[in-house]
Amino acid sequence: MGRKFFVGGNWKCNGTADQVEKIVKTLNEGNVPSSDVVEVVVSPPYVFLPVVKSQLRQEFQVAAQNCWVKKGGAFTGEISAEMLVNLGVPWVILGHSERRALLGESNEFVGDKVAFALSQGLKVIACVGETLEEREAGSTMDVVAAQTKAIAEKIKDWSNVVLAYEPVWAIGTGKVATPAQAQEVHASLRDWVKINVSPEVSESTRIIYGGSVTAANCKELAAQPDVDGFLVGGASLKPEFIDIINAAA
Ligand code: PEP
Repeated sequence: MGRKFFVGGNWKCNGTADQVEKIVKTLNEGNVPSSDVVEVVVSPPYVFLPVVKSQLRQEFQVAAQNCWVKKGGAFTGEISAEMLVNLGVPWVILGHSERRALLGESNEFVGDKVAFALSQGLKVIACVGETLEEREAGSTMDVVAAQTKAIAEKIKDWSNVVLAYEPVWAIGTGKVATPAQAQEVHASLRDWVKINVSPEVSESTRIIYGGSVTAANCKELAAQPDVDGFLVGGASLKPEFIDIINAAA
């Protein structure tokens, strides 16, 4: 079975109630391919998840931007995977580079989070990617492999995982990876999964690209054989997100 194109919108820590209402209206009115062709998942900040979920067109889904590493309890300020499941939130983004860098989330911690979230029934968009220094040092694949290995060691079933390759130097910088750069890492990552997990998981797991994706660059990226969709930050707050969804067609 082919890999269905996947477009995620990461709203990060942005938006007021009014802005959220406008974004949802734009999403609901946009012309997009059928859900047989593209899976669309938007990720508002926690506080807006219930309202977005209830107002969003039915074929689009929602994701949380994070969740706690284990069962909820005395962890002030955290949101647990069980709460997301309880609210009917199907997806969660884990391992985003902003959390790895700003909040010190290690590869192992991200692996634990992915495993716990999956065990509770969530689907996971797991982010990996190298910094500019790491790319310039020639260690892109070592970094991405180590991040993926920390996840692979903790999980058995990959059917509810989407891998997001997000080079840190491309996130929010306007400096998108070239289609060739993205394809090179996606193909190597798929090979890594083939060797270290299984050929079946390698064939079926979607590997999406994130980092300064826009309406202007999405078509060329989407044409790469191992680019199975996008995780979009800044542009997911704008009407051009509809054009990016249409890159699937
Ligand atoms: C992201 O935050 O996941 C992202 C890809 O951001 P941007 O599209 O703004 O680079």
